[in-house]
Amino acid sequence: MTEVAEAPGTQRAEELKRINHWINGAPVAGQSGRSGPVYNPAAGIQTGEVDFASAEEVDRAVQVAKDAFSTWRAMSLSRKTEIFFRIRKLVDEHREEIAKILTAEHGKVLSDAKGEVARGLEVIEYCCGIPELLKGAFTEQASTGIDVYSIRQPLGVCAGITPFNFPAMVPMWMWAPALACGNTFVLKPSEKDPSASVYTAELLKEAGVPDGVFNVIHGDKVAVDSILEHPGIDSVSFVGSTPIARYVYETGTSHGKRVQALGGAKNHMIVLPDADIEMAADAAVSAGYGSAGERCMAVSMLVAVGDAGDELVGAIKQRLPKVKVGDGMDPDAEMGPLVTREHRDKVASYIDRGHAEGATVVTDGRESAPDGDGFFLGVTLLDDVRPEMDVYKDEIFGPVLGVTRVNTYDEAVRLVNENPYGNGVAIFTRDGGVARQFQFDVNVGMVGINVPIPVPVAYYSFGGWKNSLFGDLHVYGPEGIQFYTRGKVVTSRWPDPATSKVDLGFPQTR
Ligand code: NAD
Repeated sequence: MTEVAEAPGTQRAEELKRINHWINGAPVAGQSGRSGPVYNPAAGIQTGEVDFASAEEVDRAVQVAKDAFSTWRAMSLSRKTEIFFRIRKLVDEHREEIAKILTAEHGKVLSDAKGEVARGLEVIEYCCGIPELLKGAFTEQASTGIDVYSIRQPLGVCAGITPFNFPAMVPMWMWAPALACGNTFVLKPSEKDPSASVYTAELLKEAGVPDGVFNVIHGDKVAVDSILEHPGIDSVSFVGSTPIARYVYETGTSHGKRVQALGGAKNHMIVLPDADIEMAADAAVSAGYGSAGERCMAVSMLVAVGDAGDELVGAIKQRLPKVKVGDGMDPDAEMGPLVTREHRDKVASYIDRGHAEGATVVTDGRESAPDGDGFFLGVTLLDDVRPEMDVYKDEIFGPVLGVTRVNTYDEAVRLVNENPYGNGVAIFTRDGGVARQFQFDVNVGMVGINVPIPVPVAYYSFGGWKNSLFGDLHVYGPEGIQFYTRGKVVTSRWPDPATSKVDLGFPQTR
C-alpha cells in the first residue's frame, strides 16, 4: 500500500490503528492503495492510518445511499422519531468515549471535547421534534371547493465534508437534520481525526438506522472532488477553510447540487471603555485560547476602544501564565496541543512575522510550550496590531491573540465591517443602547453582547456572512431543515362530477 509521506521526525506507535470506510452498515477496507497518517498530537506520534477513497469507492457509497433512500424516506415520522430518541440516548450514554476519541486525535482537552459532544447532542435533540419541524401550511377553500397545502420532502442523497476542529459536532450539524428530514447521507470527515465519524456510524446502526442510510468515506481531494461531481448526490454541506469552501460551492453548484459551504473567520471582540475589563479579559482569554484557538468562532482580534487598551492588555497578561497547557487527557490541562506539527509550526511563525511587522510581542507562546514531541505551543499575545499586517489579515487558527487599538466605536465597527470574513463578533460594554446599535450596524452573522463565542443554540441556525459562508442557508435549526428539504405545494379539488365542465381559461380563484 502506498502511504502518504510521513512528517519528518514523527514517531509511530508500535501498532497502528487502521481506520476504514463505513458503507452499508459495515466497515469496508479501502482498495485505492492510498491512505494517510493520524496522530496523537499530545505525544507527537502517529497512532493510526486512514484509508483514502478513490472515485469508485465514493461511487459505491453513493449507490448504497441511493438504494437506501426510498425505504428511509417512506418510513413514518413516528418511527423516525423513535430512532432519533434512541440516537440521542446512545450519544448521551457514550459522551465520554466520543470525547476520548476526539482528544486522542484532535488534541483538545477532554472537558472541551465533552462540550463539543454536548453541543452536537443539542442538534440531535432538536431533530427529535422532526414531525413538528416538517409541518406544512394548509389553506381550506382557497377557491370554491379547492384546498391548498404545502409539504416539505427530502432531497435524496446528501453529502457532508467536515473540518478537523470539530470532528463530532460539525458532522452532527449535518447528518442529524439530513436524516431526520428523510435523506440518506455520505460523510467525508477530516482525514486528520476520522475515528469519531466511524464510532458515530456504529451508534447509528445500534439505534436502528437502516444500513446504507449513513455512510462514511475517508479521504482527501480525490474523495471531495468525486462527491462534488457525482450525479447521484443532491446536496453538499461543507465546513472548512475559505478557499476550499469557495471551491466546493462553485464546483458543487456547477454540477447542479444545492450547496452550503461555511468558511474561515477572523472574529473581533470589541471592548468599549465602559466595559467590565476583568470580565472582558476572562472572556478574551477563554475565547482566544480555548481549544488552542482552533475554533472558527475563536476570538482572534481584540479591538480596544479609547483608553480600554492598557487596562485590558494588563489584565490579559496577568492571566496568561496561569493557562495550563498539556496533554488533553490530563484533567489539569486547559489547553491541548495543535492538530499537527506543520500547523503548530505555521502558527508559531506568525509570532516572528508579527514582530517584524511592528506588533509588540507581549507574551511569546514558544517560551511556555511543554517539552517533548507533542505539537504544543503556549499562548501568545500581540499588542499594537494594525489592519495592514498579516497577523491581522490571516486566519491564524492557533493560540495567538492580537490587540488593535482605535479611538472610537465607529472606527471599531468599520474595522469589523471592512473585514472579508463575517462569522462571529462580540462587543463588551455596559451600555445597552450602544450594544443595541452594534447589533444593528455590524455585518456579521453571529453577534455576542458580552458573550465572546456566540454559537447559536440548536433551535436557531449557525452561519456567517461574507467569506465565512457561500450559499444561502445556514446550518442546523430551521435553516438546516429548509436546506435538507424541498417545498411542494398541492392544489386539490374533490369535484362533484355533476358540476364538471371544460374551461380553457387560466385558472382563477373565485
Ligand atoms: P480545510 O478546508 O483544510 O479542510 C476541510 C475539509 O476539506 C476536509 O474534509 C479536507 O479533507 C477537505 N479538503 C482540504 N483541502 C482540500 C482540497 N484542496 N480540495 C478538496 N477538499 C479539500 O479545513 P480544516 O483545516 O480541516 O479546518 C479549519 C478551517 O475550518 C478553518 O478555516 C476554520 O475557520 C474553518 N471552520 C469553519 C467553521 C464555520 O462554521 N464557519 C467551523 C469550523 C471550522
